[in-house]
Amino acid sequence: MNDLSEFRADTKAWLHENLPESLIAGGEEYSGGSRETVQNPDTLRWFESCYEQGWTVPTWPREFGGAALESVQAKVLQQEMAMARAPIPLSGMGVTMIGPTLLEHGTDDQRARHLSNIANGKVRWCQGYSEPNAGSDLASLQTRAVDQGDYYLVNGSKIWTSGANFADWIFCLVRTNTEVPKHEGISFVLFSMDDPGVSVKPIILIAGNSPFCQCFFDDVKVSKTDLIGVENRGWTVAKRLLQHERSMISGMGSLGGGGRSMTLAETALSFYGKIGSKIADAPGREAVSKINMDRQAFSLTQRRAVEENTSGSTPTFATSMFKYYATELDTRRMEALMSMRGSAGIGWEGTEFDGNAITDTRSWLFGKAGTIAGGSSEVQLNIIAKRVLGLPD
Ligand SMILES: Cc1cc2nc3c(=O)[nH]c(=O)nc-3n(C[C@H](O)[C@H](O)[C@H](O)COP(=O)(O)OP(=O)(O)OC[C@H]3O[C@@H](n4cnc5c(N)ncnc54)[C@H](O)[C@@H]3O)c2cc1C
Repeated sequence: MNDLSEFRADTKAWLHENLPESLIAGGEEYSGGSRETVQNPDTLRWFESCYEQGWTVPTWPREFGGAALESVQAKVLQQEMAMARAPIPLSGMGVTMIGPTLLEHGTDDQRARHLSNIANGKVRWCQGYSEPNAGSDLASLQTRAVDQGDYYLVNGSKIWTSGANFADWIFCLVRTNTEVPKHEGISFVLFSMDDPGVSVKPIILIAGNSPFCQCFFDDVKVSKTDLIGVENRGWTVAKRLLQHERSMISGMGSLGGGGRSMTLAETALSFYGKIGSKIADAPGREAVSKINMDRQAFSLTQRRAVEENTSGSTPTFATSMFKYYATELDTRRMEALMSMRGSAGIGWEGTEFDGNAITDTRSWLFGKAGTIAGGSSEVQLNIIAKRVLGLPD
């Protein structure tokens, strides 16, 4: 048995021993932080067992709570967790976005102060990028940070800040110079959501549960010890973080995968019936086969990208291709599900719709958000054209 097969066998055995029965295929999301609550105590037990293994942040160095896994081992862990239908032990922007960015761009002091508190679930993070007048054109952001010696005074507002009402800290883009081209006057800072001058207002969303908030900053004092990288060079850090975010959205950076209600094929069989082992309806069968083949091809392409990436870190501009394809494919999958369900596919609440119908309607609506979050599909196509294919502007 080679090392990787041995690691797979050990992981399988560990999961068999430690994954609580009550979480299989139905675990709740756990993002940590001081405001987090859980319905099922097994969620915390599962998180703690994984944390002891270093599996809340499997590829991070051991000194910050990780297991120092190679990326191929982390992929095996992800596959085994998905196969066991285990929930992700710790999700959120700490693990997937600011943590990897600090590993690359933070100072020793910043890494020491922030990384372990992400891995051990003590601190939850949110992302202060978008503003009311800066979304796709993010570099137009206007939140100001004025130099006051050893700190900045921050004033402005961020919007669509997912989970800000549950977050302990924020990573935030601020304008530190207004006299230069817009990309050259941005800095990347961190501060506590409990700091004086920070206020948060939730925003309601069509899909029901809303992750969104608007944040307001009024004379917030931000220590320069939490400036990441160089003042006015925050755009470089910001773009790298977006690559980690896009990687996470496309499923490359996350663990687990349990929890979906029914697969597309299972739903098609229940709606169209079957002839032998086949879905009875020919167009339905074709739609399911096409989407499943595309999903399989995408999954193999992702695996190849992980195996070919010898740096062990998140790829750079290629993340835009994966993010684009993954979210558009998910949208196609949800559209197919909705069309199969017909009038039963618009269940929102009430006893006439079963749980799967309600879950699918909400996932269908929320799936559209995936094509916008972390940069819209159109913006990803622009990046692919310019940075991957080298086409002129
Ligand atoms: C689920 C979700 C979670 C989010 N979480 C966060 C968060 O935590 N923190 C945060 O800061 N932000 C967050 N966002 C905001 C997200 O980053 C922005 O919505 C996104 O960047 C698009 O910006 P916008 O909404 O202002 O749309 P706009 O920029 O106004 O775009 C409107 C439309 O124009 C298109 N468009 C714009 N420019 C171009 C162009 N150059 N070429 C072609 N088409 C273009 C877009 O593709 C889009 O279809 C989240 C968004 C979603 C949906």
